[in-house]
Amino acid sequence: MELKSIVINKGKEQAIERKHPWIFSGAINRIISDTGGAPENGELVEVVDYKNNFLALGYFSDGTIAVRIISFEQVEINQKFWNQKIQSAYNLREKLGLTNSSSTNIYRLMHAEGDGVSGLIIDFYNGTAIIQAHSIGVYNVMDKISKALQNVYKEKLIAIYNKSAESISKQTNQEVENDYIYQNGEPNLIGLENDYQFNLDWINGQKTGFFLDQRESRKLIANYSKGKKVLNTFCYSGGFSVYALKAGATEVHSVDSSQKAIDLTDANIKLNKLKKHKSFNSDTLDYLKENTIDYDVIILDPPAYAKNQKAKHNAVQGYKRLNQMALKQIKSGGILFTFSCSQVINRKLFYDTIVAAAIEVGRNIRVLHHLSQPADHPVNIYHPEGEYLKGLVLYVE
Ligand code: SAH
Repeated sequence: MELKSIVINKGKEQAIERKHPWIFSGAINRIISDTGGAPENGELVEVVDYKNNFLALGYFSDGTIAVRIISFEQVEINQKFWNQKIQSAYNLREKLGLTNSSSTNIYRLMHAEGDGVSGLIIDFYNGTAIIQAHSIGVYNVMDKISKALQNVYKEKLIAIYNKSAESISKQTNQEVENDYIYQNGEPNLIGLENDYQFNLDWINGQKTGFFLDQRESRKLIANYSKGKKVLNTFCYSGGFSVYALKAGATEVHSVDSSQKAIDLTDANIKLNKLKKHKSFNSDTLDYLKENTIDYDVIILDPPAYAKNQKAKHNAVQGYKRLNQMALKQIKSGGILFTFSCSQVINRKLFYDTIVAAAIEVGRNIRVLHHLSQPADHPVNIYHPEGEYLKGLVLYVE
């Protein structure tokens, strides 16, 4: 069957020639199809310029991003194509030393646009691959992706869990379930990150179950924790808390507004046989308001305050308020680790927001580190939006 062609407006081909992987609905001039109908949500389409020259292949969707490009070459989108995509993602992780490491066996294999497939996230947790499809096009080829994972990992692959329900149900208004789509043994429910153990719960946990994107920053927190009192807010499963305690913190307090997250943190503290830890089920702002403990190190790693452009202004206010509070509270000579994982808030805006918070507080503050996501969450150079995680480490006199 001939693919439907999305003809884009004159001038709009430039972004695609620069390999930007999204086509916005406003860039579409017309659609050419045998049947005369528009493509279905998730249908594979061809993108052409106003002179009908081929530009790219991608999955159509009826949202603001009308096409998510998966290839800039005119190729067959078959099993071989998916094998190559997964293999190429695997090869990078191999280069990063993640596929055969004795200290870390949990990592991101496929980071959407960063690995050339908009809408596809795959995390590898000590033998089990967790897939999150964020587009219907990708969801529809799940069996090919599953086969490709089996082809690449062979006997190293124990199971594949498809965790796309939330995103796909929302887009299709149909009941979609999360489930195992491949199993060849009992999944390992404990993973290693830099030699520390973590319980893995992809079924009940948030996102794919664990926040792999803070691996490098957790390592850095260890440098500042020895002999210190540490507050880890928005702790989720307690990654930063485990590293801080292992590095010799005198006391670590973990805060999260979700009881499930607190339970995960407590379990990970226990798993690593750590003491001197307390967890608090509380809203972070309330906790900071009510507690005047002199913390030497504070970590602020909130969820994405802005999920889209519309929410940007309020999100900036939210980050400012939160950081202001921590900058006010922290002990003299303290270290603040502060993050934003909102894609629409870029590095400059985040920095400016922290400056604004600092000005309100008026203390002497120096910037020690600029942090980002680790290399298994690569950013496609033609898709700067992919740099979602921004962090700063501040020294507060
Ligand atoms: N730092 C974590 C990841 C943070 S994810 C890690 O390294 O694993 C964000 C967390 O913030 C989630 O666990 C969520 O439950 C929690 N959260 C969301 N809103 C909150 C609030 N207002 N106060 C405290 N925790 C909150």
